[in-house]
Amino acid sequence: MAVPLFDARQQNALLRSEISEAMSRVVESGRFILGEEVEAFEKECADYIGVKHAVGVSSGTDAILAALMALDIGPGDEVICPAFTFFSTAGCVARLGATPVFADVSPESFNVTAASLRPHFTERTKAVIPVHLFGQACSMREIVALCREHEVALIEDAAQAIGATFEGQQVGGFGDLGAFSFFPTKNLGGFGDGGLVTTNDGDLAARLRRLRLHGMEPKYYHQEIGGNFRLDPLQAAVLRVKLGSLDDYTERRKTNANFYHKNLSHSATSRPPSRIQGHENSIVREEDAIILPSVHPGCTPVWNQFTIRIPGKGKRDQLREFLTGRGIGCEVYYPVPLHQQECFRGASLPGVSLPASEQVAREVLSLPIFPELTEEMRSDVVAVLHDFSAGAFS
Ligand SMILES: *Cc1c(COP(=O)(O)O)cnc(C)c1O
Repeated sequence: MAVPLFDARQQNALLRSEISEAMSRVVESGRFILGEEVEAFEKECADYIGVKHAVGVSSGTDAILAALMALDIGPGDEVICPAFTFFSTAGCVARLGATPVFADVSPESFNVTAASLRPHFTERTKAVIPVHLFGQACSMREIVALCREHEVALIEDAAQAIGATFEGQQVGGFGDLGAFSFFPTKNLGGFGDGGLVTTNDGDLAARLRRLRLHGMEPKYYHQEIGGNFRLDPLQAAVLRVKLGSLDDYTERRKTNANFYHKNLSHSATSRPPSRIQGHENSIVREEDAIILPSVHPGCTPVWNQFTIRIPGKGKRDQLREFLTGRGIGCEVYYPVPLHQQECFRGASLPGVSLPASEQVAREVLSLPIFPELTEEMRSDVVAVLHDFSAGAFS
């Protein structure tokens, strides 16, 4: 049976009449820019996430960009972000003329840690952007403390992690600002692009509302240079309906993850692998294993991705081909760490060695985890992985 990596059609079909009604409401209102629908969605998101303010914007990328602009980040400033993440995180920093400074990730959580961020602080550091990658929160207590100690701003990239918690608190409220995405493959996916910035600071919220309107306040009087970063009311209307099912989607993703953990553990190892002395961030290659994603202390992940690692030269690409050949969707998020991207040649600070980011970029493979995956589909994925393990590691 073919199993897609992601398919939103069933999820959307189940809500068809409510979504159609919500969209008609916007069409009939004749209001297609901001207004009530966006305001209502912002309020519902702020309540859901547990923050004082939420500002709807045009995408997750624009959420990060507007957040950086609200903090006056620009030329001469350094912003520390992970080397292993989606491009946006660092792209936004560079677009503002600031310098992205890449920190390594933990190969077990795929996230930056206080220890991996710490060596990168300089007197130019203005902000840190930890990314809650694949739906699991970074270890936020230490990262918040580190940012306070250095008196720098903290922007959470929570694009993949709406609803994820660390020590019981939802992501998006730990830092000065949080950035979310409603790209269709995210846990709360719209019918196109959309994003959100969260904050507990009223002044930052007001600044964000002005920035998304070209820095305009009042009309046609521009206090600063912003952009068109607005969330469409049509998207807001769709997302309001889907927000009502987000907890259900998350539960289903957790069920899928539990199934994989239970049924793949005998062809895999989840224990923390041994370390190479002097390279505390890299892992000894274990040729005989698929490494399952691990849940870290204090974290309740929302499983935007279920990302396994396949150590051993060429093994990940072998598995990718094997799965594809058997009709199982999979993808490499992400094949090239950001410090090695062509576009950052010269734009970022000279590459300190980031061995774990380079290693995981060679080893990762994400499996289907979307909420509507059926028991039969999950079992197929497991069966094909067992076939591969039997052949490749025996
Ligand atoms: C998706 C994503 C973004 C960007 O969101 P868009 O809505 O696609 O612009 C930023 N950061 C991370 C980690 C993402 O996964």
